[in-house]
Amino acid sequence: MRCGKIVCVGQNYREHIREMRSEEPVEPVLFLKPSTALIGDGEDIVIPQGIGTVHHEVELALIVGRPGKGIAEDEALSHITHAAVFNDVTARDMQTAARRAGLPWALAKGMDTFAPLGEPVPLREVGDLGSLRLELSVNGELRQRGSTEQMIFPPQRLIAHISRFMTLEEGDIIATGTPSGVGPLLPGDLVQATIDGLGRLTNPVRGD
Ligand code: MG
Repeated sequence: MRCGKIVCVGQNYREHIREMRSEEPVEPVLFLKPSTALIGDGEDIVIPQGIGTVHHEVELALIVGRPGKGIAEDEALSHITHAAVFNDVTARDMQTAARRAGLPWALAKGMDTFAPLGEPVPLREVGDLGSLRLELSVNGELRQRGSTEQMIFPPQRLIAHISRFMTLEEGDIIATGTPSGVGPLLPGDLVQATIDGLGRLTNPVRGD
């Protein structure tokens, strides 16, 4: 399945908003990653030299199987065919500097290898999207633990909101935000993310 765009949701878990010292959003906060950032299970996350701190963010990813625009909330999940584990890798120092300057942070989120995606699992095989446990560990040490029940905007609401403005196409990915516990990734680390029913996403980290 070809991926056209990756629509990411920022600040969708209250504990993560607190740790980032941000305000709770009234509407979903959206940004895009290019499809060239995608890597799969087992592939290396590559950190370019001199970009400062890079963070991991485990997220539930939804994969669009049926295109749509202006999708109603009660129809939303019928447009999603698969779900997967996702890691929204972020050049945090660059993002913070851009935010302070009121500038876009596309580069901080969109570098090559900054979108690791696990093996997609058919949605019908996944449990209730509203109560999946997410965990992420680095070198075997637990860093993030949360549940999708902590989302401010649930998947149906996100799909309706995004598709009100952007056409969703087959293969598009929606990354639904990260719980608290984000932290640094360094060359030599091994990052492992799991979500109930979606298996494990493992990626070594290296410098370029
Ligand atoms: Mg994120």
